[in-house]
Amino acid sequence: MRGGFYKFVAVLLTAAFCAVGANAAVKYVFLFIGDGMSVPQRMMTEEFSREVNGGGLYINSMPFQAITTTRAFDSFITDSAASGTAIACGAKTRNGRLGVDADGKKLVSVAEVARDSGKKVGIITSVTLNHATPAAFYAHNDNRGNAYEIALDMLESGFDFFGGGGLDGRNNKDSKSYKGEIYDVAQKEYGYAFAENMGLASLEKGKKAIAVRQKDGAMPYAIDDDSSPTLADYTQKGIELLDNPKGFFMMVEGGKIDWMCHANDAATTLRDVIEFDKAVKVAYEFAKKHPKETLIVVTGDHETGGLTLGFAGTGYQSFISRLAAQTCSFDTFKHRLGELAKNRGEEFSFEDAKPLLTECFGFYFGDDRDNPMRVRSAEKKQLEEAFDRQFKGENRSHSAFAVTALKCFNNKASIGWTSDAHTALPVITSAYGAGAETFSGAIDNTDISKKLKKLVK
Ligand SMILES: [Zn+2]
Repeated sequence: MRGGFYKFVAVLLTAAFCAVGANAAVKYVFLFIGDGMSVPQRMMTEEFSREVNGGGLYINSMPFQAITTTRAFDSFITDSAASGTAIACGAKTRNGRLGVDADGKKLVSVAEVARDSGKKVGIITSVTLNHATPAAFYAHNDNRGNAYEIALDMLESGFDFFGGGGLDGRNNKDSKSYKGEIYDVAQKEYGYAFAENMGLASLEKGKKAIAVRQKDGAMPYAIDDDSSPTLADYTQKGIELLDNPKGFFMMVEGGKIDWMCHANDAATTLRDVIEFDKAVKVAYEFAKKHPKETLIVVTGDHETGGLTLGFAGTGYQSFISRLAAQTCSFDTFKHRLGELAKNRGEEFSFEDAKPLLTECFGFYFGDDRDNPMRVRSAEKKQLEEAFDRQFKGENRSHSAFAVTALKCFNNKASIGWTSDAHTALPVITSAYGAGAETFSGAIDNTDISKKLKKLVK
């Protein structure tokens, strides 16, 4: 009799474990999105990390990988609003729309399904909290540009934790929906705790919270400033605040990978991919303690920049490790160049700019032909001509010299770019943990939401 009972229990347990693989609930679900992060961004960073840091990325070693298509309802090349909506809500929509379908009908996101199932929900990003990707998980608006209304949707969602960059348009008095400065409304009307910068550490469990690096704008680029709180710190704090018996759903976005791919800045991009990987590792450390109850999914929303690993001038050779010579973001370089030009006035010359090129990109202007960062005479000519276009004469270009310097640097590292916008390249979705095996083979970005919605219930 007893033997029969134990056999019965064993059958039940087997059924329960099998069900996890199909559609049973997973207690802890992490979704990481690298904005603009497709195969080239991941492989460039992998190669750089192996050569320079002595080890590859965790995200590239995850046990399940799926090639993932990204097209929008109305365009082969998606924007972040349409792809965010696809990943969050499981439906194609037109570029520019958030949380509504192609006909404008309101959609339901996986984060909302998790909330309604009793889970706690966290939304973390390195860009602003009401930017397209995070907003796709809580907002319903046919225009991603309606920052104030989207920020109100954020409060209305009732999600438990928002962390990372600040807000866009948080005190837009021109909005028809205006009801006060958003952080103020969040605390007075919606019961959120609010923390800025290292105030993150003092947030305590039990109260909904918004924690920003600073009130306005995105977090800094990792190459310029990797001080705390980082994306990994927000992820760690999110786990601490959200952990409860019913579990949580957490979306974490590395949003500035995309921004520097728009600028074709490879070295800054890969530093942000490394920072993103560190945040995923925080989830992995947590998952190791709860292996049967945790799912980690990592994806990108589209490719940005048409990045390629190889360049006509370098043939079969690759020099990705040369990207280590860059010491600041392209934004910071442009800013410092502008300051230098302002200080020198009309006297500003190419010779004056050389030390900055050396400091920011490692350019070498000496005679040693074996120095890989040596600026060859053809490159010097290009740089001088671009300098004149930006700083001399009547019709000055806004950034010809800065762009030419960056292009020259990228090419020395065997990197090429084809666009300053998004491209239609598919991305890779990676997964680890309970239910991870369904993220393999070939999928569409809408499938991520469809699969996750079954797993968070
Ligand atoms: Zn995007």
